[in-house]
Amino acid sequence: MSHQRTLNRAVHCEGIGLHTGEPVTMTLRPAPANRGVAFRRLDLPGAPVIPARPDSVVDTHYATTVAKDGASVKTIEHIMSALVGMGVDNVQIDLTGPEVPIMDGSALPFVELLRAAGLRRQLAPKTFLKVRQPITVEVGTRSLRIVPSQRLKVIYTMCFDHAILGEQTSAMDVGRERYARDLAPCRTFGFLRDLDMLQRMGLAKGGSLENALVVGEEGVINGPLHFPDELVRHKILDLLGDLFLLGKPLVGTIIAHGAGHQLHLQLVRRIQDQLAGEPGPFSLSAAAVEQWVSPLLPTAHGLRPAVL
Ligand SMILES: [Zn+2]
Repeated sequence: MSHQRTLNRAVHCEGIGLHTGEPVTMTLRPAPANRGVAFRRLDLPGAPVIPARPDSVVDTHYATTVAKDGASVKTIEHIMSALVGMGVDNVQIDLTGPEVPIMDGSALPFVELLRAAGLRRQLAPKTFLKVRQPITVEVGTRSLRIVPSQRLKVIYTMCFDHAILGEQTSAMDVGRERYARDLAPCRTFGFLRDLDMLQRMGLAKGGSLENALVVGEEGVINGPLHFPDELVRHKILDLLGDLFLLGKPLVGTIIAHGAGHQLHLQLVRRIQDQLAGEPGPFSLSAAAVEQWVSPLLPTAHGLRPAVL
């Protein structure tokens, strides 16, 4: 059996929101077992709490936004991805503004923050979600499908409407080591031709060459890329973050064609429907736990907490 994990100590970072352009400080704090992930808006009266759950999602256009009682947090997908990728189950995320900071556009700064905090084991068992039947969601030619399997695998294809990028596929057996090494450094991206439209919509106000890969007519204008398929890998990073709204790591094989936050959330809701009334979350075999659960990280002052 594996155990849930939270942070060893609070850690924080500062940055700006990609879409709002507003400065924000984000503090990650340890949370009790079975609490899951919850955001708290320190800048609003009463510091309202917004749980990271499927029913909190209010918008999926260009980012995933959660809200409760009028208080919202935008662009949660990269920190959610880092949490599930690094095996964190319970954390409270305090923000001084309406959006998670974009940092360099990837999840790596958050992985480094979690490493600085160190993780500690909690008493409650860690459980996982597994679909029993295949589920497919579609919008036009875009689709997202999950089929039952013993591990998490993702095959993601993007058909870019762009002469040079064309169609790209990335396939990954996502594990604890691969997440930090091969997914976390992959940065978000945008098309130069969409910038005017996005800014007219009030989005991408904080976007710059420092926090997003920008694609022009000739390809990415502010490379070099960390990986030849960095853009598609970033889509996998986003997918894992959105799926963690289910509250537990998911096991299955996922096949995506041109998906995005909207389809990710449709799949989340269908998985939630399928699992309602099923026997509860299950424990994985030791081999499968190996895939998902990162070893406990050394704390910043060099002490190593209890190891499994
Ligand atoms: Zn993203």
